[in-house]
Amino acid sequence: MFKKVLIANRGEIACRVIRACRELGVKTVAIHSDVDRESMHVKLADQSICVGPASATESYLNIPSIIAAAEISGADAIHPGYGFLAENTYFAEVCEACGIKFIGPDKESIEKMGDKITAIELMKKAGVPVVPGSNGPVNADDAKLFSLAKKIGYPVIIKATAGGGGKGMRIVNAESELKNAIAMAQAEAKASFSNPEVYMEKYIEEPHHIEFQVLGDRFGKVAYLPERDCSIQRRHQKLVEESPSPLISSALRKKMGKAAKNAAAAVKYVTVGTVEFLVDKKGHFYFMEMNTRIQVEHPVTEMITGIDLVKEQIRLAAGEKLSFNSEKIKILGHAIECRINAEDPDKDFIASPGKIGKLYLPGGPGIRVDTHVYSGYTIPPFYDSLIAKVIALGADREEAIDRMSRALREVEIEGIKNTSSLHGKIMTNEHYRKGSVATDFLPKYIFGR
Ligand code: ADP
Repeated sequence: MFKKVLIANRGEIACRVIRACRELGVKTVAIHSDVDRESMHVKLADQSICVGPASATESYLNIPSIIAAAEISGADAIHPGYGFLAENTYFAEVCEACGIKFIGPDKESIEKMGDKITAIELMKKAGVPVVPGSNGPVNADDAKLFSLAKKIGYPVIIKATAGGGGKGMRIVNAESELKNAIAMAQAEAKASFSNPEVYMEKYIEEPHHIEFQVLGDRFGKVAYLPERDCSIQRRHQKLVEESPSPLISSALRKKMGKAAKNAAAAVKYVTVGTVEFLVDKKGHFYFMEMNTRIQVEHPVTEMITGIDLVKEQIRLAAGEKLSFNSEKIKILGHAIECRINAEDPDKDFIASPGKIGKLYLPGGPGIRVDTHVYSGYTIPPFYDSLIAKVIALGADREEAIDRMSRALREVEIEGIKNTSSLHGKIMTNEHYRKGSVATDFLPKYIFGR
């Protein structure tokens, strides 16, 4: 096991990783920007080092500073959390070159899965069903563009090869919109990922976003855990996640789980990752992408399996064997996670940074809250707006929803706007309560457009 882990992140995920390390008896080093001096992760860690000013490029993305911090503190491993450098091949490579273990998959896995076109190619070879598409990059001046789109069939979706966070995506309903949509997606992709490459695939109508947590060890063993349903999204970004999915039968779970396992095995995947699929109205599923990191929504899987995924991730990175088989996993109830953001839901979700006054976060039976905020904490305007994840576990879906509804009513965060009221509306919505809803749920049933 590692002796000391540096956490190259901030916010709730940095706190989550520190907690896992502490339970494993591993010392921790927090890094922070100068505005994050009073952050919870700094308080929780054994040691902390300032790596730069507020701008993420100069702090949480500043590779030389982070590596220097690891070397000065004597950390033998780095946990990247999610976002920032979590899926940065170069960072993984630098860690390796400096003799510091990167707590994640090998750089080859990140590289292959990070480029969506390469990932789709690989999945086809591994026999995993993929969304019908262009099988490569597209440009507005391609001679065969219109015939290709026609063959795929409208509506199509243009997506960034390097995409993430729902950015660089455009839905195209007709030929007349195609060229413009490609140009716009390319511009957004270039601005967000410094890579303008985009591809085209069939737009699956009213799909459900179903993903599988996979885990792999250095001895070639791969396992999957029951699915997460992440269909409740705003602008292609997840807001609510649950497990298991009301849409998935145990037969389909097995089938999709095996496909996810094959996807991970195809890149000899080590540590934790997520294989994402779209499922259409007929129950057909298609590989969409693989995320090579721990995800925001990992707690719902922890709640229904009893497995601590972050501890498991650290153990697997340290070279330990995978401790369970997928077939033996029992589903221990139903879990839902709501992402509470410091945003104003009544003003087009504009960010709402600032100082938190009185703070009351929910508790009671079946409730877990993962957060880094406290009363008197000032949310800086520079980073992600996620301030807390409320997770509810119930014996069944109905109890999980009831517990979540009651927990959301207990939330009190003075001084800033937050999205808990929107989550309250989702939990009481009759369509949501009935079962799995598609990715168009929010615009259709909550915003009414
Ligand atoms: P990102 O990496 O930016 O998160 P994803 O490929 O994971 O992008 O897609 C995010 C969301 O966008 C999906 O959950 C889904 O709602 C929507 N989406 C992506 N591809 C398609 C598609 N082919 N058809 C319909 N919706 C899609």
